[in-house]
Amino acid sequence: MRARTVIVLAAAAMTVPILAPPARAYVRALSASGSPLYWSNSCATVTIYPNGFSMMTSEEVAKSIAAAAHAWSPDEVTCPGPGGSDGGSGHPYFEVIPSLSTGGPVPGIGYDGKNSIIFQTTSWPEDPSLIAFTQHFSRPDGEIVDSDMEINAVPGTFWANLDLGSPALGHGQEAIDLQTAITHEFGHFIGLAHTCVHTGFDPPASPLDDQGQPVPECPQDPQCPPGSDVPQSQSVMWFNVCAASTTKRVITADDARGICDIYPAANDPQVCAPNLPDDGCGCAAAGGPGARSAAIGLLALALAVAHARRRRLRSDRDRRATL
Ligand SMILES: [Zn+2]
Repeated sequence: MRARTVIVLAAAAMTVPILAPPARAYVRALSASGSPLYWSNSCATVTIYPNGFSMMTSEEVAKSIAAAAHAWSPDEVTCPGPGGSDGGSGHPYFEVIPSLSTGGPVPGIGYDGKNSIIFQTTSWPEDPSLIAFTQHFSRPDGEIVDSDMEINAVPGTFWANLDLGSPALGHGQEAIDLQTAITHEFGHFIGLAHTCVHTGFDPPASPLDDQGQPVPECPQDPQCPPGSDVPQSQSVMWFNVCAASTTKRVITADDARGICDIYPAANDPQVCAPNLPDDGCGCAAAGGPGARSAAIGLLALALAVAHARRRRLRSDRDRRATL
């Protein structure tokens, strides 16, 4: 059976094998006005809406997404030492806190002050080669105020929990490990972009990586497993994941440097407020004086994002990326 490649959408970063020379590069995602994205609090909560998803049990879904968040957590990530060397001892401060919905209506994608992970089980408006998509709503200065993740879970996709011993491992080469894909998506969630670019395809990202090197073009036909000729492909924030693989459940040194640079412990605001209830206008998340004008600005941004999504779709169809 031919190896399948799966495009995971939403932003990018990357990693390197322990013994390989570090690629020394991650890429920040940008706001529409070109500012690097970041969260201003010490944490962000996100609610999971299975939405009738039945390929995995609720326990498997919760475990997979919690483990994906943990891969980026202060408990798990050790920041590189001075000069980017390994053996550092610090930790980033930011943490993603996912939880399963306890019921109620499934929210739409949009700026409602709530971060959501939604399994799209009945229709997928994006290109079918895209298996997941993370969308940010941010202020011009780059502060993220809302982030929603969509998972392509329509019939024909094959998500699984590929823990060792999983029946899905021996059953099908086509199974995509949910934990692996969501680990990548949480990289987007925290503000990282892909470590390669598709012209007119990716969300806005810096044209240069953190080392000042131009971000390479994403290949038309990415290899599975990633080729060693492109060091950026080892990163979790490379633009695709491979079916039947769990290698990228673990972030690489470059991915770690990304979250450590954006959220250094010394700058921890030590504020971890849960999302405010949606009040219907999105003002709650903006907060403070001028909240409404901020919300209006974000609405405009949302429209810009929607436009960008259409561009991406065309681009992706042109590339005929396969799932
Ligand atoms: Zn992505």
